[in-house]
Amino acid sequence: MTRVFSGVKPTGHLTLGNYLGALRQWAEIDQHRADALFCVVDLHALTVHHDPARVRRLTRQAATLLLASGLDPELCTVFVQSHVDEHTRLSYLLECVATDGEMRRMIQYKEKSPRERARGGSVRLSLLTYPVLMAADILAYGTDEVPVGDDQTQHVELARDLAVRFNHRYGHTFTVPKATAPKVAARVMNLQDPTSKMGKSQDAGPGVVHLLDEPDVIRKKIMRAVTDSEEDVVYDRGSRPGVANLLEILAACRGEEPEALSGGYDSYGALKKDTAEAVIEMLRPVQQRHRELCADPGAVDAVLREGAERARGIARPRVDAAYRAIGL
Ligand code: ADP
Repeated sequence: MTRVFSGVKPTGHLTLGNYLGALRQWAEIDQHRADALFCVVDLHALTVHHDPARVRRLTRQAATLLLASGLDPELCTVFVQSHVDEHTRLSYLLECVATDGEMRRMIQYKEKSPRERARGGSVRLSLLTYPVLMAADILAYGTDEVPVGDDQTQHVELARDLAVRFNHRYGHTFTVPKATAPKVAARVMNLQDPTSKMGKSQDAGPGVVHLLDEPDVIRKKIMRAVTDSEEDVVYDRGSRPGVANLLEILAACRGEEPEALSGGYDSYGALKKDTAEAVIEMLRPVQQRHRELCADPGAVDAVLREGAERARGIARPRVDAAYRAIGL
């Protein structure tokens, strides 16, 4: 059976981008078609300035939202990365296979390191090496497919390269994984700046819709989305990114194609209104289930404990084999 692995970082409140680009597809498709593991990758939240209590809170919230989004522990494995030591054990071995040049070429490092430098003067070494930890996350499970948004494909490429290199040098140990992108909404853009992605690091901004935003807040954010000075509603990602983003969000909510919706509106107001209502309706059951799960924290603990046990059981033999293969 195909093995699927993917994860979400607890660096902020999960967004509509995370849901449409990842969580929804994991719940609706991946957990039914594959042996799938989904992980809150909390170690990855330590690569930039962080508040320990916030990371702990957001890890819990993200795990609860994975379940609220429909991940079913009977069908897939849901766990927290730091509960399974195999990730860091393998990461070190892969650091002995990766090169510093490879790390410096990673787009996210190039983007984030100047920001960190401007903020505090120094960059954590883990920001440079975290793609190796991500490769370990993937390779430890013999993963065939990694469903991710297109911002993550470079990291999955690195995992492939490291798997091939390790296998070539030390004997076949790892499956070579590949990234699979969702058909729709591979990249939901910020409502206020539709040329950059809707990321959870921009937490408080009005351009980011969070999964737990109240309906009124969602409505306000979408009604205030930046569009352009044209009047017709036409789908053109290149020259009309704001309108295209709204059409893509609406289409993704309805399971339709954005091009098909493009002729159906004669004003931005009407498009925004329909988009807001579609998002609110889509998130309603997720929010309801989240409230129920928060009322039963013991049940979430049990899911995460069992998930970590199962994950460990899968990862340990392969990581042990990698230790032997490399000469330990
Ligand atoms: P973030 O960028 O929000 O920190 P993560 O690295 O935690 O996201 O990614 C979790 C998943 O959500 C990944 O598969 C990522 O590609 C996807 N994702 C994140 N933001 C978006 C977005 N704006 N549009 C589509 N998918 C996204």
